[in-house]
Amino acid sequence: MINTDNYSVEEYEHIDELTGLHNLNGALSHLQGHGKHAAGSSSVIIYLNVMNFKSFNQRYGFVGGNEFLRGLAEEIKCLFPDELIARTAGDQFIILAKSLEENEIIDRLARLGEASARHDKGLRLHIKAGIYQATGDETDPVVMVDRAKTACDDIIKVYDRDYNFYDEALNKKNELRQYVIDNFENAFENKYFKVYYQKEVRALTGKVCGYEALARWHDPQMGIISPAVFIEVLEDVHLIHKLDLCIIDMVCRDIREDLESGYAVEAVSVNLSQLDFELCDIMAEIDKCRAKYGIPVDLLHIEVTESALTSGSDFLSEQIQKFRKAGYEVWMDDFGSGYSSFNNLKNYEFDVLKIDMDFLRTFETNKKTQVIIGTIVNMAKELGIHTVAEGVETQQQYDFLRRIGCEKLQGYLFGKPKPIDDFVREVDCSFDVCEDFELAPYYDRIGEINVLGSTPLREKTLTVVNNLPIAIVEYYNGICQYLYANNSFMAYLSSIGISSLEEANELHHNVEHPGTIEFVEALKRSEKNPDHRSAADIAVNVAIVNHKIRFIGEKNGRKAYAVVARNTSIHGESETAESLHVAMVHVFNQYFRVDLYDEDGTVDNIFLNTDQLAVADYENNAVKAVEIYSNMYLYPEDRKRFRKFYDMTTVRDRIKAAGTEYIVDYYHSAIPGDRGRMQMYMILPFYYSGRWKYISLCRYADEIRDDIWK
Ligand code: C2E
Ligand code: CA
Ligand code: CA
Repeated sequence: MINTDNYSVEEYEHIDELTGLHNLNGALSHLQGHGKHAAGSSSVIIYLNVMNFKSFNQRYGFVGGNEFLRGLAEEIKCLFPDELIARTAGDQFIILAKSLEENEIIDRLARLGEASARHDKGLRLHIKAGIYQATGDETDPVVMVDRAKTACDDIIKVYDRDYNFYDEALNKKNELRQYVIDNFENAFENKYFKVYYQKEVRALTGKVCGYEALARWHDPQMGIISPAVFIEVLEDVHLIHKLDLCIIDMVCRDIREDLESGYAVEAVSVNLSQLDFELCDIMAEIDKCRAKYGIPVDLLHIEVTESALTSGSDFLSEQIQKFRKAGYEVWMDDFGSGYSSFNNLKNYEFDVLKIDMDFLRTFETNKKTQVIIGTIVNMAKELGIHTVAEGVETQQQYDFLRRIGCEKLQGYLFGKPKPIDDFVREVDCSFDVCEDFELAPYYDRIGEINVLGSTPLREKTLTVVNNLPIAIVEYYNGICQYLYANNSFMAYLSSIGISSLEEANELHHNVEHPGTIEFVEALKRSEKNPDHRSAADIAVNVAIVNHKIRFIGEKNGRKAYAVVARNTSIHGESETAESLHVAMVHVFNQYFRVDLYDEDGTVDNIFLNTDQLAVADYENNAVKAVEIYSNMYLYPEDRKRFRKFYDMTTVRDRIKAAGTEYIVDYYHSAIPGDRGRMQMYMILPFYYSGRWKYISLCRYADEIRDDIWK
């Protein structure tokens, strides 16, 4: 304890016993220019607050806590030797300086942070600082201390900021906050709170499919006050449920009018605060409100903001379940804004995930944004949760979100929030503009399909299966073998009669086997190709297997590849299909490409086992594709003849004239390394489902072994 014997009574009242510093009285008296230390008015006030001191106290007891405070006091004295220092409350200090440069303040505070670590027993007690620089016209010193405190409080929840200067913006914010505190009761009484509605649009159809209700405070003196200001205050004074129920009452009243108007009616989502669940039986209150106006449960959705979800609270989780059981759609608002978004997704059950608008703010400037949003949508769909994107402001964002399968969109691109009176029912609620509410479940069902996923048509069962059959293959010392295969890949192997990776590898050890030769060639092609990819359809155990290969890398002569395999024969069930497969295996063993032409003038590549491009992937107009192909892969002198040969409008006449069932011709390959090797092209027409189709087959003339068409 400090020896206070030589202090006068007045001074004694100004001293903090624990640290020997001034106390609040001492500091204020100094600021007012009284007392022993009065040395004219101070112009800089630094307010310090130790974060997490409570948990330190709990851990080390009051004795430990006091030790820390005394240690910290000494450090402050060392760093601010010419300033007056006071401990104003438990873990709060103020420093009064006559004048200090901003840089100097920042520098000394940084050093204080380091010094404090010497006393915090490794618990990393952060010290936050608010700084007020006097302008000279302050009349009340309490206001000066208050402002320093306000600056400090402003960054308490901002984890990466340790100091904050009080400025004009903060001043305005502070004044407005004070106004809200002084006037909210009045605002309730005078019904200053209003609902604004913002449209939600179905990405697929562009039609309005719902609204979000957002609160506004119409103040006769201050104008429109934003919820960003008053929600926090109402939460602090535990009156937020009163506001939320008042908004929900107005929403139900408006929906009732819509129901009676004969125009389109859409669901409205309302925002709930976490505190609503604690301050009242919020669902019972909302149910009462719906009953009062006769509003069906599916017309009111509940938004709970992500940051409200204190990780894994059983109470909140039960509340959310209760709403869902009662038939409400529950939405997770601001997904991705909190510290534990993924934990929240795991711990709570939601119907809809609303992607925080912060993601879209960097849509144009940061390439990663699109990947992240795409991944969120993909993940949500795999979990069977619907997605909404908010803050959509540009057509590019719209196009992107629609493409990746995000279902609903909201943002200034479609409209700002506005009061009900600004909507013109005849226009805004017509069925040209709005979705028929009856169709919502239908569109929701479509929305469940994951267009980005590998298995868009699978029912979501919440079992994690990687549906792409993926294996890792290593090529070493002239032998290739599987190193790893996922479950899907094992399922594929078993579909072709192979029961283990060892068995599959045994096949690969037979380097003479045509399947192995082709496989190794495909691996090599992927390595050579600029994009490190290749594809090959290879006959394995009487199945045609489509392989997509990616070269991964090489180390000490070992080369690794990722392989995705698909058994293209698996869809055939009947016996004819079976024999067709056997025939096709022969075809695929002998032809390096098979294309399918249609009488409508289009072409599709159905099989490719060569370095050649599918062509049809980027040009499916047959005439154009044939031209591109001939220019890429054939001798110049052969090209004209080739195009004539592939004129699908005359094929059948030519076949008739020849008295055969197909036509054949030969052309020189222009592919480097082929040295003009002769290729055989065959066109085989067939009539299918009311139209003519033409199979085109290509192979090297010198590889013809036996002609299965004989
Ligand atoms: P929120 O639920 O995330 O609402 C979206 C906010 O983004 C709204 O601000 C809206 O006006 C704004 N916004 C919408 N589209 C765009 C856009 O394209 N670009 C940009 N930059 N902003 C857009 P608002 O109305 O100021 O609401 C702020 C927050 O206040 C809300 O965020 C919500 O968390 C809370 N809030 C609003 N009304 C209520 C209410 O009745 N009860 C409760 N508990 N909270 C509410
Ligand atoms: Ca919201
Ligand atoms: Ca939001």
